[in-house]
Amino acid sequence: MSLDVEHLIRRYGHLDGKELLAALIKGDLAGRVAVTSSFGAESAVLLDLVAEVDPATPVIFLDTNELFDETIEYRYQLERRLGLSNVVVVRPNEEELHLAEELWRDDPDRCCELRKVRPLARAVAGYEALVDGRKRAHGFEREHLATIENGGGVVKVSPLANWSAAAIEAYFVKRNLPRHPLVASNYRSIGCWPCTRPVDPGQPARAGRWAGKGKSECGIHTLSLGLDGAGI
Ligand code: SF4
Repeated sequence: MSLDVEHLIRRYGHLDGKELLAALIKGDLAGRVAVTSSFGAESAVLLDLVAEVDPATPVIFLDTNELFDETIEYRYQLERRLGLSNVVVVRPNEEELHLAEELWRDDPDRCCELRKVRPLARAVAGYEALVDGRKRAHGFEREHLATIENGGGVVKVSPLANWSAAAIEAYFVKRNLPRHPLVASNYRSIGCWPCTRPVDPGQPARAGRWAGKGKSECGIHTLSLGLDGAGI
């Protein structure tokens, strides 16, 4: 990785949201950055900010083959509404799908590795920085998230790290953004259908992910995606 993460943090660490995106996508990271999006419950906020800066920014959408139909439909809806012109769909290959089968039942870490981590690592190999929609308000491993971090071979940028649930909601209202269809059924963090449940009022948004499995992250944000030594 040729980008100097410490330099980026010193120069842009005080920014967030659209200001941070503009500074990086139009500036230091021009042509070297992609956005990753699940097109989930809160994704419209980051994608709207990205579209305002540059709708041709690459947006990587990881289709694990286990997504809700509603997520696939929502992806097309947001793409049209926001004018995103460079959504790249990434899928596991045949071998990974064969190996993954129904591993989500007994070995969700391995399932996530095959359906998410490996395909995404291949897709982002040409980028030096990845933008994501993580927020400290999600809790769990995200409580101490910074807006710019060294992701182990790639710079991780989280422009919404400081945003509260109320700020996200206010932005949806202000921009009249469409909601993921499952939000109306109390799904507040939406991934693959076997590992996503609705949450009760007052529960953290991500409490519905891998409920009862002792797992809170899929690995795409916590493992090195720089491919060095990844054997992918
Ligand atoms: S979220 Fe569940 S189904 Fe999706 S890749 Fe991970 S373990 Fe498999």
